Parts: sequence; C-alpha cells; structure tokens
Amino acid sequence: MLRTLFLAAAGSARLGRLVESAPVSKGIVQRFVAGPSADEVLLVSRELADDGLSVSLDHLGEDTRTIEQAVATRDEYVSVLGRLKGAGLTPAVEVSVKLSALGQRIDEKLAYEHARAICAAAAEAGTTVTLDAEDHNTTDATLETLAELRRDYPSTGAALQAYLRRTEGDCRELATAGSRVRLCKGAYSEPESVAFQSALDVDKSFVRCLNILMSGEGYPMVATHDARLIAIAEDRARWFDRSTAEYEFQMLHGVRPDEQARLVGSGHTVRVLLPYGQEWYAYLMRRLADRPANVGFVARAVASRK
Ligand SMILES: Cc1cc2nc3c(=O)[nH]c(=O)nc-3n(C[C@H](O)[C@H](O)[C@H](O)COP(=O)(O)OP(=O)(O)OC[C@H]3O[C@@H](n4cnc5c(N)ncnc54)[C@H](O)[C@@H]3O)c2cc1C
Repeated sequence: MLRTLFLAAAGSARLGRLVESAPVSKGIVQRFVAGPSADEVLLVSRELADDGLSVSLDHLGEDTRTIEQAVATRDEYVSVLGRLKGAGLTPAVEVSVKLSALGQRIDEKLAYEHARAICAAAAEAGTTVTLDAEDHNTTDATLETLAELRRDYPSTGAALQAYLRRTEGDCRELATAGSRVRLCKGAYSEPESVAFQSALDVDKSFVRCLNILMSGEGYPMVATHDARLIAIAEDRARWFDRSTAEYEFQMLHGVRPDEQARLVGSGHTVRVLLPYGQEWYAYLMRRLADRPANVGFVARAVASRK
C-alpha cells in the first residue's frame, strides 16, 4: 500500500518541484545523495574508494522533456568523466545513465547519440557506462540501444529487473562473454500483466535470473541489499566456480554500509550507486517505496529542522 503511494508520488513532477525547493530537504537527502554538484560527488567517491568500494555515479534526473535538458545531462556526464580521470578515480568509478534523462521520450535516436558520447568519454577516461532500467515501456528501446552501443563499446552494462516476467529471457540473451549485467528487483510501479506482484514471486524470479547469469559467460552485477539473495549469490558463485573477480555486488549509497564493508572484507567487489544532482525527489520516493520504514527517518529529519 505505502509502496504504491510512494511510487505514485515519484511520478508527480509538480510535487517534485515543490519538495525539491522546500527548506527541510537538504538534511533528508544527505543520507542517500552525495550532493548537488560534481564537486561533492568527487569528494564522496574518493572517500568510498579509500574504503575499498567501487562506485557508479548517477546524475539525478529522468524523463527529460526538452532537448536542452537532455544536452545538459550529456554534457554533465562528459564533464564529470573528465574530472574523474583527472582525479585518478577511474576505473574504480564508472557511471550509470538513464536513457530517459538523455531524451529517450523525445527521440530515441537522440538519446542513443547522447549515450554514445558518454560511452566515448568513459572509454577515454578508462572506465565504463551502465544503462539503468526504467519503466517497462522503455525496456525494448533500452536493450536495442544497448546492442548498438556495445558494437563500439562492448563493456557497456545493462540493468535488468527481476520483477518483469520477460527478464529470464533477457538474462539468457545477455549472458554472453564480456556482458556486464546488473540484476535488481525493480523499482517502478508495474501492472500484473508484465510484472510479478508479490515479494516472494519477485525473489523467486531473482534467483532464476541469478542462476542464468552465474552459469553464463557474462559478468553478473548483483544489485540487492537482501541478505538472503546475497547469500544465494555467494552460493551460486561457488557452485558455478566463479572467483570473486568474476562477479560483483552492488548497493545504494547509504543503505546497509556494514554489509558493504563485510563483503569487501571477504574479497568481493562492491559497487555503490552514488547519486548526485538537484533532481533527487523521484529517487528519494523510490527509496521510501523500497523501505517504507525510512519514513520515520524522514520525519525525524523534518522535525529536527523546526
Ligand atoms: C546498485 C543498484 C542499482 C539499481 N538500479 C536499478 C535500476 O536500474 N532500475 C530499477 O528499477 N531499480 C534499480 N535498483 C533498485 C532495485 O530495483 C530495488 O528497488 C532496491 O534495490 C531495493 O531492493 P532490494 O533488492 O534491496 O530488496 P528489498 O526487499 O527492497 O530490501 C531488502 C532489505 O534491504 C534493506 N533495504 C532495502 N532498501 C533500503 C533502503 N532504501 N533503505 C534502507 N534499507 C533498505 C532492508 O533491510 C530490506 O529489508 C537498483 C538498486 C541497486 C542496489
């Protein structure tokens, strides 16, 4: 129920503008977001890298409706990649990209051209790009763009959402040599016709997808905070004889830092998705949907500013 409410709120641009400009917002977002600009994200990336973590930067913003905004997003990624290289933070830090932020809803070709420019900048900086998965209406277009990008930039990664009924098939398609695939549960509100609705069914699908990726030839990136799924991933890696260099775990900045440290301590690569930028509203709503208990944390942050 609460999950549905938060996901509906995540889609409201009007509410987003209102909340993003509210004075109480800064303290609330700090837990999950590096800061408003590249300066802060470089600092936080350095701290995480010093702790032995890998990072994927995510410039906040999605569902871009103007070409100017899409161009600005492309330019921000190209610029931050140059700065990461200059700071010696690549290859430990890569970038995650939402094609909708690059203009996918305006013109798919335009989003592809923008993503290509970011892949070129990432290659120049000695690192990689992963395409985020968004709502199911964009999955085909995103996977087509991925295939195009991989012709010249084969290390480009893809995110797949276990809650979608189609994802086992997509895992089979993408479990090929060198293919970087991030498996996550999925964070959007999706209808029953395309997505499993119960947590148990999503978890079962996650495990089926994990089996395909771990037994395949690609590089699985297991994006979850779920203790049971992490244990199953470690088990499958042993079963399919994968060393810790042949897969990685991924988690969100600010979520289960102790578990991140434990996995690093046991020799795993752990990549933290680190968002930055001004447009944090939809991201925060999805984090509340993941874990409605975080509402208490938000309420305390609001109360402490009074
Ligand atoms: C690196 C990364 C990249 C992602 N990329 C995408 C993407 O491209 N597309 C997409 O749709 N989704 C993406 N997601 C989000 C994902 O789909 C889930 O919504 C999110 O990860 C929560 O699912 P979970 O697997 O952690 O399991 P859950 O069942 O939600 O959580 C398991 C446990 O983890 C802890 N936990 C989970 N979330 C939180 C939180 N916000 N705060 C505090 N504790 C928490 C709690 O202890 C919870 O019981 C990504 C997630 C990660 C980690």
